Amino acid sequence: MKIIMYATLAPEQKYIKEWAIKNDVEVKCVTERLNAQTVDWAKGFDGIDFQQTQSLEPIVYQKLHQYGIKQLTARMVGYDMIDFNLAKKYQLTVTNVPAYSPRAIAEMGLSQALQLVRKMGYYYQRMDQLDFRWAGLESTEIYNLTVGIIGAGHIGGATAQLYSLLGANVIATDPVHHPELEAYLNYTDLDTVLSQSDIVTIHTPLNKQTANLFNSQAFQKMKNTAYLINMARGGLVKTDDLIQALQEGQIAGAALDTLADEGQFFEKKAQPEEIPEDYRILRSMPNVLISPHCAFYTDTAMKNMVEMGLDDVVAIINGKHPQYPVIPQ
Ligand code: NAD
Repeated sequence: MKIIMYATLAPEQKYIKEWAIKNDVEVKCVTERLNAQTVDWAKGFDGIDFQQTQSLEPIVYQKLHQYGIKQLTARMVGYDMIDFNLAKKYQLTVTNVPAYSPRAIAEMGLSQALQLVRKMGYYYQRMDQLDFRWAGLESTEIYNLTVGIIGAGHIGGATAQLYSLLGANVIATDPVHHPELEAYLNYTDLDTVLSQSDIVTIHTPLNKQTANLFNSQAFQKMKNTAYLINMARGGLVKTDDLIQALQEGQIAGAALDTLADEGQFFEKKAQPEEIPEDYRILRSMPNVLISPHCAFYTDTAMKNMVEMGLDDVVAIINGKHPQYPVIPQ
């Protein structure tokens, strides 16, 4: 059996080699993403595995089908880059890796929130100007705060546990209630989360219902002392409205691991002309933290993504049920 893995990262290599030996499967790794230019490399392979946020072009589905591939395995949580109508048309079973390490993303969100709460961006800005005074930068403490989770699934649930253990009051909105999380959070509605939270942290998938969920109306409902943490997908936040909310002081700050237009420049050494204006504006603000969609990037996550993704590729090739089929919402 032969599998081609697209967009492989250096830390994944060790786990891929171990898995390949254990399962007696030939795995070819390429660093390039799966797209119209690279899909032909899948010819002659029995299965594929990839990770990327950029949408797959229609030709990719057509050619994979033509080459006898039966699956589209994304070794990641999000699957918004996949057109499920095309996947169905070309008989490609979609799988993802739904919980390779929720703690990886939850810990990143928490660490960013703590920096915002302690106004570290303002301190760093002053210190760059050799101004070591504290005036105006009094902070608060996390156990005095209410944290609102938008989407308490795997990552939102892990996030709720972390904040709860720090003594914060955690509330959440999610159409699906998980009784096991009720030790850490209280479920409520979206408007209550927006109006009562000191930290609003987003962990929903990006889909038609959630796209631009954070727009000017949502920011108006938030406290002007509140922080927004987006560790999920850039498209959940309307960037222009966020910039306006920050400039007008409707909210106190934001931490963004993802941006709606990140596909243009994340994951590479970009040229200055590739950097969009909204990134420049946000990056210049001391109350905004931006990271390059790296919340997932831990050793535990790498190992689980590789193993769980490849196990499902093999299951589908062997005509068995994959463990993580994606049923789009
Ligand atoms: P999950 O499916 O376990 O949880 C998502 C939750 O959101 C579910 O409980 C669902 O019911 C809820 N939800 C759906 N629509 C909602 C709405 N309109 N309002 C409130 N809740 C809603 O997914 P997860 O593993 O927790 O991942 C969440 C998202 O995080 C992924 O979809 C992905 O986009 C993102 N993600 C980002 C990174 C990163 O590196 N930054 C890594 C992994 C995942």
